[in-house]
Amino acid sequence: MAAMHEELNRIVAMLSDVSEEKVGHKLVTLGKLNNKNVVVVFSGWGKVAAATTSTMLIERYAISQLIFTGVAGGIQDFLNIGDIVIGTSFVQHDMDCAGVLGIKRFEIPLLSLTEIPSSKTLQISSEQAANEYLDSDFASDVAYEELQSLNIAKPTIYKGLIASGDQFISSEEKLQELKKALPELLAVEMEGAAVAQVAHEYDLPFIVIRIISDKANDDSLIDFPRFIEEIASHFTVGIIKRLI
Ligand code: SAH
Repeated sequence: MAAMHEELNRIVAMLSDVSEEKVGHKLVTLGKLNNKNVVVVFSGWGKVAAATTSTMLIERYAISQLIFTGVAGGIQDFLNIGDIVIGTSFVQHDMDCAGVLGIKRFEIPLLSLTEIPSSKTLQISSEQAANEYLDSDFASDVAYEELQSLNIAKPTIYKGLIASGDQFISSEEKLQELKKALPELLAVEMEGAAVAQVAHEYDLPFIVIRIISDKANDDSLIDFPRFIEEIASHFTVGIIKRLI
């Protein structure tokens, strides 16, 4: 599952034996990558879109694992645009029944869970794939001038907590509030924790790999479409083709 059409197109371009199906309003692409059967689909944006799409993949295609790629806002100061974040656990930052249901902020009602972990095995293989990518194709994939113009050095890979909510975070105030409530938080986006909850309910191994596209603050000044097309989508493809 990918959250950006540019990434999705590049992933689909790597497949062989391609066929397409329309499911609801979604176009699903089936094919083979490294001799494995894969199903590729746009996640949509937000938790509902990500949850319905994940459920569709499980129920209709009986997938054995789910890999999600997209971009995210970096929360900690040490994160730079272009860095790669592999989600090890996921929280819904807009889930709050504290006070009313008497449970903790961020806790998912009836599941008694606040953070949902991703697959350990996929964490390890994703990190390996990302490292291999950065040590090889990365240098030739993305033009040096392109990286420079967006102020990107060689990306660093991080593993840790990702928070999702139905909100594009782009204010210093909200950023600081989230950081205070979740001191370990690395990145913020809109789908990962929804995928995590569905995967949890179905005991499905999953991983979320995000490229930092902005700093979730007032001056997320980058040229978004250009960043995705010229940089993030290359990273994704480089990682995915090694991971699968
Ligand atoms: N500006 C982009 C919009 C992408 S926003 C464009 O015009 O193409 C939606 C996607 O970005 C979602 O998949 C979400 O998960 C991710 N995302 C990136 N930075 C984010 C942030 N700071 N807050 C929330 N979601 C973010």
